[in-house]
Amino acid sequence: MRRTIVLGIIVLTGVITAAMVSAQQAPAGARGQGGGGGRGGGFTFPPIQPIEKVKDNLYMIQGEGGNTAVYVAENGVVLVDTKVADKGQAILDQVKKVTDKPITTIINTHTHGDHTGSNQFFPASVDIIVQDNTAANMKKMEVFQQEANKNGLPDRTFKDKTTLLKGKDEIDLYYFGPAHTNGDAFVVFKSLQVMHAGDAFANKGQPLIDRNNGGSGVQYPDTLTKAAKGIKNVTTVINGHTTMTTTWQDFVDYGEFNRLFLAHAREAMKAGKSPEQAMMDFKLPEKFKGYNLAGGRGGPGGNFGIIYEELKGAR
Ligand SMILES: [Zn+2]
Repeated sequence: MRRTIVLGIIVLTGVITAAMVSAQQAPAGARGQGGGGGRGGGFTFPPIQPIEKVKDNLYMIQGEGGNTAVYVAENGVVLVDTKVADKGQAILDQVKKVTDKPITTIINTHTHGDHTGSNQFFPASVDIIVQDNTAANMKKMEVFQQEANKNGLPDRTFKDKTTLLKGKDEIDLYYFGPAHTNGDAFVVFKSLQVMHAGDAFANKGQPLIDRNNGGSGVQYPDTLTKAAKGIKNVTTVINGHTTMTTTWQDFVDYGEFNRLFLAHAREAMKAGKSPEQAMMDFKLPEKFKGYNLAGGRGGPGGNFGIIYEELKGAR
């Protein structure tokens, strides 16, 4: 009798663990980071926070999805990312606190519903610009199959680099390859030396690698290294999901973190270790002590599971 109960508990634990893993991995692929709502797996975003100043003419709004950057340029306001669905008015209310200028441009750092969710709130005259692959990913999203939401789709795209606006307002958009998705844009407010990194650097922890939208754990480190080399004169970074800005050095270090993670995945896989074992014996240098490796991301095996799959595949 006793033995049956113990066995039952073991089996049940296994089932729960498996369920947790699939619940945490499914959103990464199937629904992205919020297929319109929260992040999946029961995660809900904090409410919209009061608009905060980052630098002169540049602000950030946290909550209800990814961090929205608000850039007050000479002829209008540029938004970077529009949070989850139905937050357009709340975003606008915050923007009105700092300027009367109209919103003229939206840049989406990538396709996910917690970064593109309120695009369609803004009038069709607002110019929406994204990387080529993000445009293709957005066209596949359920929300944009509805005619009424199609004004939220991109009006313009870029491949590797483009510059918006003129003079001191100039904004450079860069793409360096797959990471979080296959369309992660880096948005640089040149005169302010500030970059919005989107979810390529969402926070100091394991990234979400959305393979269904072309993300890659194998290419992640190279993409960040290319960005770190190709982008000049940035001091401050707005992240996809942090409560505070980070520094350029943090961004450079994040590339190294992902390189160490991948190197450990290769070694552990070669040694026949499970993703869970790989996670357990993954040691990081002292400078990464503030990183959060617990929870989220693929359960107890973290991103090792998804990177193993990628390593076993074509590459
Ligand atoms: Zn995302």
